[in-house]
Amino acid sequence: MQKISNRIFHSATDLTHFAECQHLTWLDRLNLDEPMEKTATDDQTKLLQDKGFTHEKKFLDKLGELHQNITEIAQDASLDERISATRAAIRDGAEVIFQATLVRGNLIGHADFLVRVGNTDAQGRYQYEVADTKLAHSTKAKFILQLCFYSDLLTDQTGQLPHHMHVELGDGKRESFRVADYIYYFRHLLERFHIFVTLYPEGAPPYPIPCDHCSLCHWRDRCAERRVADDHLSAVANVTRQQVVRLEQSGVKTVAQLAALSAETRISKLAPETLLKLREQAALQVLERETGEQKAVVLPPAVGELKGFSRLPLPDEGDLFFDMEGDPMQDGASNTSLGSITSRIHGRYSNPSGDTIGSRSDRPSWTSWISSICAFNVIQECTFTTTPITRTQP
Ligand code: SF4
Repeated sequence: MQKISNRIFHSATDLTHFAECQHLTWLDRLNLDEPMEKTATDDQTKLLQDKGFTHEKKFLDKLGELHQNITEIAQDASLDERISATRAAIRDGAEVIFQATLVRGNLIGHADFLVRVGNTDAQGRYQYEVADTKLAHSTKAKFILQLCFYSDLLTDQTGQLPHHMHVELGDGKRESFRVADYIYYFRHLLERFHIFVTLYPEGAPPYPIPCDHCSLCHWRDRCAERRVADDHLSAVANVTRQQVVRLEQSGVKTVAQLAALSAETRISKLAPETLLKLREQAALQVLERETGEQKAVVLPPAVGELKGFSRLPLPDEGDLFFDMEGDPMQDGASNTSLGSITSRIHGRYSNPSGDTIGSRSDRPSWTSWISSICAFNVIQECTFTTTPITRTQP
């Protein structure tokens, strides 16, 4: 969201933010009237931004090998100049337009790439499809929304909705989507967004309920402080959004109130055993903040089903533990592996190789690790147990 010459423009990012958190849209709008302090960009975000530029440049170079006529829209030009230059490039039929600026009313879109496709229409207008570079290894819903946003604005220049839109992923793969499959959802969301920003500042601002976007959000410190000040239920470990809603509807609005519930309390549409777990968890957290005591309660294993640690085989002398992790930001065909091996002998844990394996090409460490395994001489039985892997991608 930005104000240019006293006009407020909304971007594709504003729309995806709205889809994730309406409090974010509210704060962005408020910030235009009353500038507020944002959370500073951290090193991880800067790293991702740099990697994003490199990925975009690589794709531009690739297009340069395939096309002669690439028009780059100068980013240091004024908004009007960028809009005019984009329109002229489309009119003249540039094969590729890099950093296109598209505008309709108060909507503004900065598409990474417009790529010319097919033939001109009956009026002699060239046709284009949108391609955006993303570091992620798979397409996310917000990418599709962004592409719909640009494809829709592009229609004003080409007279036709593009057939396809494309994501150039961080692992070099391309994923393509039919615009017609998503455009109606996009337009519905855009309408809701328009209503929301038009009604601003009427009504109460939405509450800053934590969501997947929070870790990347420029308002995260502000929202976290607000939730702590409110003793908001979202602080209870493992509570779900829906459970918070049900508790609030029953008048339980803070962690302290949840912790103080009696054993007989019942909450509509919340199973008694779920409420018990949440109440005990809240009580542990309240105990810690009031006394500093970090108490742990070991829950009895669920009868008849193996979950968590109970899925592990029984301990045995000679068990080996190998931990391997990957870095999705690492360049190359496969991610760098980081690992170490730990063994348990006579109840003690040790790292026999003493090494951490730095990469899959770190041959000495791998050799040392294999030797460590061989040193156990006899492998009586192999049991492979895997734990879920969480891959974090931009
Ligand atoms: S930090 Fe989270 S809750 Fe706050 S505005 Fe951003 S996304 Fe919304």
